[in-house]
Amino acid sequence: MLGPLQEVHLPARRFADHEEVDYLIVGCGSAGGVLVQRLARAGFNVVALEAGPFWDTERDWVSDEAGSHELYWEDPRVTGGGDPLALGANNCGKGVGGGSVHWAAFTPRLHPSDFQVYTRDGVGADWPIDYDIIRPYYEQLELEMPVAGPAYYPWGHPHGYAYGPHPMGGVGNALIKGCSALNIPVSIGGPVAILSGSHGDRPHCIYRGFCIQGCKVGAKASTLVTHVPDALKSGAEIRPHSMASRVELGKNGRVTGVHYFDRDGNTHFQRAKAVIVSGYAIETPRLLLNSACPGFENGLANSSGTLGRYLMAQAGNVILGRFDQPVRMYKAPPAHALTEEFYETDPKNDFARGFAIQTVGPLPIAFAKQMVAAKKAWGWGLRREMMDYNHWAAFGLLGEILPWADNRVTLSEEKDRFGLRVAHVAFNLHENDHRLIKKAKNTTMEVMRAAGATEVVQEARYAHLVGAARMGADPETSVVDKFGRTHDVANLFVCDGSIFPTQGSANPGLTIQALAARTADYLISQGDAIFLSGKRDMAEPPLRRELAPAGTYGAGVPRLK
Ligand SMILES: Cc1cc2nc3c(=O)[nH]c(=O)nc-3n(C[C@H](O)[C@H](O)[C@H](O)COP(=O)(O)OP(=O)(O)OC[C@H]3O[C@@H](n4cnc5c(N)ncnc54)[C@H](O)[C@@H]3O)c2cc1C
Ligand code: SF4
Repeated sequence: MLGPLQEVHLPARRFADHEEVDYLIVGCGSAGGVLVQRLARAGFNVVALEAGPFWDTERDWVSDEAGSHELYWEDPRVTGGGDPLALGANNCGKGVGGGSVHWAAFTPRLHPSDFQVYTRDGVGADWPIDYDIIRPYYEQLELEMPVAGPAYYPWGHPHGYAYGPHPMGGVGNALIKGCSALNIPVSIGGPVAILSGSHGDRPHCIYRGFCIQGCKVGAKASTLVTHVPDALKSGAEIRPHSMASRVELGKNGRVTGVHYFDRDGNTHFQRAKAVIVSGYAIETPRLLLNSACPGFENGLANSSGTLGRYLMAQAGNVILGRFDQPVRMYKAPPAHALTEEFYETDPKNDFARGFAIQTVGPLPIAFAKQMVAAKKAWGWGLRREMMDYNHWAAFGLLGEILPWADNRVTLSEEKDRFGLRVAHVAFNLHENDHRLIKKAKNTTMEVMRAAGATEVVQEARYAHLVGAARMGADPETSVVDKFGRTHDVANLFVCDGSIFPTQGSANPGLTIQALAARTADYLISQGDAIFLSGKRDMAEPPLRRELAPAGTYGAGVPRLK
């Protein structure tokens, strides 16, 4: 069961390990979920290996903050560097749907400027594609999820949303009040991939605020409920509890399949004509580094030495404000209002790029941790703060941290339960990042005060991960080309958040899924050429709207011209 209304029947289809499937996808998360659906619908034999479980949302999920930790990738990792990232819970997903199961579902697009950061600002990198290439995929995925939001969204490339915005919760009202007092435009009710009305076999949001715990209701989009059911109907196999350990390179310089462990620790090898790694920004480079072999001693597809480098997280400080009147920040999706007024480079600032301010609605356990971090509250003091929970509102800033070569995933000497070397993640903030975070923090605190908060405190943290297998036109400085094909191996692709060259101040999930739909269209347009030839056709594929999951694009829903 996927929520109270959707039902899928397992096993849908099972390929034998010795059968050579067309596409083998490692990781069935945000990108992997879209890929497996598109490729299966186009008629390919597809298997997705997923390290975590296939969720039965009725049986496995609870509307309880403490009970949701199984949704996260909590396997061991080592963190380091001058400004280490907190890894584990609240970081990466595990299980079918991946991070889209626990995301808050904010779905802003990147801005046109994000694709040319180096050209415009002399920092970071340019993408090998521009906004106009990804734009039709944004529009398409916004209908497939679908995304609710205002009829007019003014920032970046201005656009509107086909599905109406959500009503405001207490935190959204605080953001509106603070921004309005300072003449800062604010978007209300989205963009967020949460149903503002019932849609197909999914019910609308009931505003109970457990979005990051998985949304047992099924109103929040995750590939588990939006794309995976259609993938199964179209003949794909999703193999849960299957931990990929190594991508195998054949004698002809092409990959031949993937070694993996099942839930009992038995080893298998699934043969495939082509492999797509979609394990996200830490596990993707880890798997390719663990796949080092003769000819690729520093990691498979790593002739550039770039694999693992340019890992990014966004600055994600949480600003908390206490109000005299109750706010009740749990009553609404955490994601429901934001401003991108400070997103672009402003010559008046002493740094490049910018930040966004968004609503967040921490539930009590997250709030307690924030009070410990922000106010050093403990013992009776912490209890007093907790009793005051209903009077607090929280805004999150999303600040663009630039890609730096020393922010890097490498292999630690430590091993996991399968005997695989775990990821070591080094992270350091640089001068531009420090300046940007200072300004973003002060501005967000000012907005909170303007909203009427009598006490304002903050917790420094990071949000989202991208990069570490970046795309680019130059094989010397990037891992994959503009379609996600590795420069080094013609039938090996990477498709997930790890291919971002820069990250903007937008949440990454919509862009990850839009890029996955485009990579799928490319693979479909190439037909058997991907399996048989090393030739790279760099022409853009046609957009295949008809391959969207049934009912998400067609009669009864808004159509794009
Ligand atoms: C608390 C929280 C809130 C967030 N909110 C938002 C938001 O509001 N908006 C937004 O845009 N983004 C949000 N994000 C980020 C978003 O969830 C991720 O950026 C996105 O899901 C990443 O997509 P992906 O396809 O790259 O990887 P994932 O969705 O993480 O998928 C990777 C999958 O690969 C599997 N995998 C990894 N390694 C292996 C292996 N070796 N073998 C087999 N399987 C493997 C994993 O189990 C996982 O299921 C949030 C993240 C967190 C933690
Ligand atoms: S607030 Fe809406 S989207 Fe979030 S968990 Fe509840 S029903 Fe799901």
